[in-house]
Amino acid sequence: MIDLRSDTVTRPTPAMRAAMADAEVGDDVYGEDPTVRALEDRVAHLFGGHHAGLFVPTGVMANQVALRLSVGPGEELVSDADAHIVAHEGGAAAWHGGIQTRTTLSPRGLLDPTDVARLLRTGGEFTVGTRAVAVEQTHNRGGGSVYPLERLTAIRELTTAADVALHCDGARIWNAHIATETPLAAYGALFDTLSVCLSKGLGAPAGSVVLVPRDRWAEARRMRHRMGGAMRQAGILAAGGLYALDHHIERLADDHANARLIADRLAESELDVTAPETNLVLVLLPEPGPNAAEVAARCEAGGVLVSAFGPRLLRIVTHLDVDAASCANAAAVIAAAV
Ligand SMILES: *Cc1c(COP(=O)(O)O)cnc(C)c1O
Repeated sequence: MIDLRSDTVTRPTPAMRAAMADAEVGDDVYGEDPTVRALEDRVAHLFGGHHAGLFVPTGVMANQVALRLSVGPGEELVSDADAHIVAHEGGAAAWHGGIQTRTTLSPRGLLDPTDVARLLRTGGEFTVGTRAVAVEQTHNRGGGSVYPLERLTAIRELTTAADVALHCDGARIWNAHIATETPLAAYGALFDTLSVCLSKGLGAPAGSVVLVPRDRWAEARRMRHRMGGAMRQAGILAAGGLYALDHHIERLADDHANARLIADRLAESELDVTAPETNLVLVLLPEPGPNAAEVAARCEAGGVLVSAFGPRLLRIVTHLDVDAASCANAAAVIAAAV
């Protein structure tokens, strides 16, 4: 099987497993796991040293810890309507934090500063004040689309002027960094809080880091504990993350090249494909023709797994465990299935 459903399906490499097996560990609930602390410090440093890092089991928890630092119950979060935070986290912002969301449809998921300016509002006796804006870099439902740094800077200026926090769901921010050569520190300077995944393109088996203001780290740890995310000898997982930071960032360029290869092959077959900016490819299926679930089933019969991402939308994701030859084979199977 060539599995292109997600970049989360990768297995840790033998070298990553060896690093995990050798990890020095302690009880992280007592703050005594040196490998977890090393990972937290390393990620904070990579993003310019503006924050303190907190290791959490999942990207969802990273986002939810961050949101709860900025937005109280009955207060408002602004994001695009397809944001992972509002579309894929099981209503967690409302469930855990009583957070109200206000969203706007944005092309490829990328908020426009004029929309942000329109949506921000102050609270009053019965009106709801915006406390945070969330952006997603790269944007998952947008097909791995990338916010240009200038657009993020414009949104930062608006949020600063309105005294509103800016959160980045940076599950795949590593891909944006490699695709645009924007330094990670340039991203780090913009956001009050930032979540990054180690288990997507970086290929670690689990784990995310949430970057928070230094003076709110203890509060973030308390939130993590309340959500059930305080782990003990978590250094075994953190070691996989540290290994990924050393060895799996630069190679994301290969995933991007493979996504372009697939998109080019599908475009040659006259399919409606989004131009991939990173490692995700979206295909809008022609009508008449089989729907996304039917195409995915046909692909599976041909040895290729893809995601039905909507009734007529396919998502194809490249990653560490697929090479150019298997991507070329997969493209032929997908084109035939459509
Ligand atoms: C995967 C993902 C998350 C959540 O990560 P999990 O580790 O699966 O909880 C958050 N945001 C985006 C954009 C993602 O793609």
